[in-house]
Amino acid sequence: MNKRIPEDLIERAYQGKSTKEDGLLLLEVHLFELFRFADELRSLTAGDTVTYVVNRNINFTSRCVGTCGFCAFRTNNGRVLSIEEIMEKVREAEVAKATEVCIQGGLLPDVGMDFYQGIVEAIKAEFPEMHIHAFSPMEVYHASRISGIKVNEALSRLKRSGLDTMPGTAAEILSDRVRKIICPSKLRTAEWIEVVTQAHAAGIPTNATMMYGHVETPEERIKHILTIREIQKETGGITEFVPLPFMPYNNTIGEKMIREGRYSTPGLEDLKIYAISRILLHEYVDNIQASWIKLGKKLSQFALHCGANDLGGTLMEESISRLAGASNGESISVEELEWMIYGAGRIPKERTTLYRGAHKLASRNPGRITGCGASE
Ligand code: SF4
Repeated sequence: MNKRIPEDLIERAYQGKSTKEDGLLLLEVHLFELFRFADELRSLTAGDTVTYVVNRNINFTSRCVGTCGFCAFRTNNGRVLSIEEIMEKVREAEVAKATEVCIQGGLLPDVGMDFYQGIVEAIKAEFPEMHIHAFSPMEVYHASRISGIKVNEALSRLKRSGLDTMPGTAAEILSDRVRKIICPSKLRTAEWIEVVTQAHAAGIPTNATMMYGHVETPEERIKHILTIREIQKETGGITEFVPLPFMPYNNTIGEKMIREGRYSTPGLEDLKIYAISRILLHEYVDNIQASWIKLGKKLSQFALHCGANDLGGTLMEESISRLAGASNGESISVEELEWMIYGAGRIPKERTTLYRGAHKLASRNPGRITGCGASE
């Protein structure tokens, strides 16, 4: 924990050429040196602006045929919101000046693409300017199978219906060893990568997440981050990276950990992951988002000094993390978010989902997607 960061590692990081070995070595270096280096790269990439988006979460059902052992959200018989009920929530979001609705739900056994396209089309018909950030790679994969079409056709249909971007959730840890333990019926690593890269090819940018702190090894975390970097090198379609600490309550994986005396990751470990993400993704993924809902407000404020430059959304209605034990509220006001950012010595700025005009971004890495804003 007291090693210095070697000069050659620093040089590779500046060039966007960090290796897996560099990532592992960064786990051993002096914490303040690690945080300082990540903060320096954050400053180079994003300046002193810290962004957030005014958005609303809409989870249209908790009913799910999935079997993820970390999930506290799934039910066998949850209700499915009607289109009109979803629209009511979008109308409330519009009144609250939200620019984005983030829509996800459980995997329903019997609905295909028409259901997902119907949601997007209804929103765009009434609110053409509202940014629709919806449907995880798992949801798209599942719906395409039910409809008997290929994933790229499913993505093209969603794009034509008006889908703007997708959450890069369902990534968990991109290791099939881990996935077999925590989410055996979820799409495999290669399938997640395929859905995300095909989304980018269809002109649908995504973010990318990593849910850590359960059964994965440090090496599997580092490999996950480097996999995200490889995708971004190829497509340029990733808007931000969001490390998400595992929430251990009300789910079988967490209950086992608690019996063994483990309660997810300590805060310092969370901050190391933010810092290492910033360093390994430098030159490729410009935005590292600290999740106030998972980290809590004070730790996410501190993460702004460890590589993070974004605090995510106001959410209005959060239930997935709350059910798994997060106790940081279901929403946050713009005033409080800005207070947190000023309190960290930074300058708050509301952004769009695609960070348009947020700060100088990765024009050096345009990737294959042009005009989508992901690399603006
Ligand atoms: S994480 Fe998603 S897919 Fe898995 S069980 Fe929960 S709701 Fe279903």
